[in-house]
Amino acid sequence: MATKPRKHPRITGVTAWQVDLPLHEGSYKWSGGNQVTVFDSTVVAIETDAGVTGYGEICPLGPAYLPAYAAGARAGIKELAPSLIGQDPTALGVLNRRMDAAMRGHPYVKSALDMACWDIAGKLAELPVAQLMGGRYGDGFRLYRAISQEAPKKMAARVGDYRREGYSKFQLKVGGDPDTDIERIRACAQALKRGDVLIADANTGWLMHQATRVVDAVKDVDVYIEQPCTTYEECRAIRERTQRPFILDEVIDGVPMVLRAAQDRAADVINLKISKVGGLTKARQIRDLCVSLGLAMIIEDTWGGDIVTAAIAHLAHSTPTEFLFAATDFNSYVTKEIASGAPRRRDGWLAASAAPGLGVTPIKSALGKPVLSIG
Ligand code: MG
Repeated sequence: MATKPRKHPRITGVTAWQVDLPLHEGSYKWSGGNQVTVFDSTVVAIETDAGVTGYGEICPLGPAYLPAYAAGARAGIKELAPSLIGQDPTALGVLNRRMDAAMRGHPYVKSALDMACWDIAGKLAELPVAQLMGGRYGDGFRLYRAISQEAPKKMAARVGDYRREGYSKFQLKVGGDPDTDIERIRACAQALKRGDVLIADANTGWLMHQATRVVDAVKDVDVYIEQPCTTYEECRAIRERTQRPFILDEVIDGVPMVLRAAQDRAADVINLKISKVGGLTKARQIRDLCVSLGLAMIIEDTWGGDIVTAAIAHLAHSTPTEFLFAATDFNSYVTKEIASGAPRRRDGWLAASAAPGLGVTPIKSALGKPVLSIG
């Protein structure tokens, strides 16, 4: 018996909210003297004529980390949203092509919109996003903990504090004065237990001569080196000067850079951030490519609250375990809960929600008044 084809859903409106996300620790510091005390996040809702609303979130790590800033995300969403009205939110490929045709670049602007459409697709299919992305591996996955840049002793003490919270992978924020950074890495390495993982993330903060001194001074330490310098070429030069395992992050902004890094053997692990590459659709493409290339990944975003953490969880949980080096639970770093149903860390592990879509419901009182409403 022929069944009537289901009517395609259409986008009827886009709403956005600005949310402040303060940090439990007061501030987060990384290379170049950069710090953030309150994260400026943007939540979007995409309404449809199918009785389903999808939610997304974008939260840059301040304006100095990547070519992205919070007010820019909102300005971009305002610019882009009218071109989405009337479109099918479940046709994710078509939708992404349309966003790319309507606005060149600005991947972070598109990230929350794409995320919200995945939420809609999952809700309509009555499947969690992790299922749509290939299905989950195991009961959960391991998280890493970023350690804000402080004096070496303080950072080493934090390793113990975070281990008591269940973490076993620690990412030190270095990329400052090379002599202090060497002390930071050595002090934290001494605080490690067997099986722990240590990453020194310079966030582009060193010049080549500085990075060369640091990697040479820690050559006897079991530490991963992440994005020592600004450009790909500089990072490659440092890669050739060290035996330490190597992670590329800021320069990995899309498929061409992943292919180039894989071809050049320029990294052992890449850091895949959802908004850096333009949303879950593109992040999933890169994730699958990395699996094919044999390249492990840290899966996360530039920052965020409950909705970003849920999106990370779906992408990470649907990644083969041996390829997932670590992921991040940003919602445990911030004091404000913005959605119910978001995954919560347990003993250093996280798991994607089994509810349809992203599995989160925004708490309207936490969002306040919308800053944007189109449609
Ligand atoms: Mg990094």
